[in-house]
Amino acid sequence: MTSLHSIQTSISKGETNCTQLVDHYLSKIEATKDLNIYVEVYAEEARQQAILLDEKYAEDPKSLGKLYGAVISIKDVLCYKDHGVTAGSKILKGFESLFSATAVQRILEEDAIIIGRVNCDEFAMGSANENSAYGPVSNAIDPTKVPGGSSGGSAVSVQADTCLVALGSDTGGSVRQPAAFCGVIGMKPTYGRISRFGLLAYASSFDQIGILAKDIKDVALLLEIMSGYDENDSTTAQQEVQSYAQNLNLEGKKRIAYFESALQHESIDPEIRQATFDLIEKLKSEGHTVEPVEFEYLDFIIPAYYVLTTAEASSNLSRFDGVRFGHRSEDAKDLLEVYKKSRSEGFGTEVKRRIMLGTFVLSSGYYDAYYTKAQKIRKLIANKTFEIFQNYDFILMPASPTPPWNIGDKMDDPVEAYLADIFTVQANMVGIPAIALPFALHANGLPIGIQFMANKFEEQKLLAFSHHLMKKIL
Ligand code: GLN
Repeated sequence: MTSLHSIQTSISKGETNCTQLVDHYLSKIEATKDLNIYVEVYAEEARQQAILLDEKYAEDPKSLGKLYGAVISIKDVLCYKDHGVTAGSKILKGFESLFSATAVQRILEEDAIIIGRVNCDEFAMGSANENSAYGPVSNAIDPTKVPGGSSGGSAVSVQADTCLVALGSDTGGSVRQPAAFCGVIGMKPTYGRISRFGLLAYASSFDQIGILAKDIKDVALLLEIMSGYDENDSTTAQQEVQSYAQNLNLEGKKRIAYFESALQHESIDPEIRQATFDLIEKLKSEGHTVEPVEFEYLDFIIPAYYVLTTAEASSNLSRFDGVRFGHRSEDAKDLLEVYKKSRSEGFGTEVKRRIMLGTFVLSSGYYDAYYTKAQKIRKLIANKTFEIFQNYDFILMPASPTPPWNIGDKMDDPVEAYLADIFTVQANMVGIPAIALPFALHANGLPIGIQFMANKFEEQKLLAFSHHLMKKIL
């Protein structure tokens, strides 16, 4: 069963219950161990919670929350009280959360069962889930291929049916790109829609919690439950949360823009280009308007993103100093050595690279040349994007320029790996919602994802359109 609706229907008919569901997923987790999806499985706890929910259901089905029957995995960057959280890093080895992330708390209150925490790139930095202290995650369709990143474990956990829904985080595409690589749906909401309280920070002005699932209605429901103001995160929006899952009917024909410069970009795989053009034709034949628009900033997106996010990361990650959290070097002789050795031993190569790059772009003498300039580019990209939304409902873009590559292939060339984000970082630069939908297969059998972006707080429209596409077109 791939949707909460079908699960809850089966429960109501007495065909299944939470205990059976948890057992099913646990056996799947066992059977897919080689994919290296889970960092930790909460088997006993999930079983206990399932028993409790089944008892509650037998007494009064109405006493259950909206997410009963939903078994969920969470990315190893989300705090869950009294459970480990390490951001895929050695530096947080042994650390346990003292509180739950607001998003996690909200799904628990609706009776979701959290079955475990899943692998990811260290501090969510990566596009292939290879930068993890726990080793790479494999794509379930072809284990020699990467699952995308950084929420690679989240994507494969859904793809391989080890849970119904997964939570991930998306700073520059980390929910949408792995979703596309694994043939599942991945959504990143508007910046500020879901509280970041309890999400280990990578780049705070870009980070958002996102959802990976096989069913749009599940994405909509999870979004609805997790969204909304939180006094613990001053960047959360006051904007009213709509009943996303209740209003998935598409109204009228839509106006969709795409960038010719993206579809003709030198980095794009020819089959992905062709599949995208084919989709454009299908959308047009359905009566939607789909038009190319000028967007002259595509090649500035990646450099600006990597200047800004590394700058924020260098500041955010300074708290991991060997004193307060996780790993402390055994052979440090004084305080300075505690800092230096703990960080040298604890962080992996990619994280160190980004901390150094971020420190450099913020250093006096270089600040204006890099950081200030990248901020200006961010502003230009945002202005241009909002200008496009004055005339269009959505921007259509492939989720990734390439299909999943072989594990290990891009490890020696970080810049090539950074280019994998070319189509996804715009949404985070601007703070708009975006969704990746599985829509075609590559000749090698691997999935291709299409992405739609909408204006700020237009999740409702984006989800309704996605719902329609998943039913009728894709
Ligand atoms: N691949 C991008 C990066 O490495 C995006 C990561 C993310 O969204 N967390 O920064």
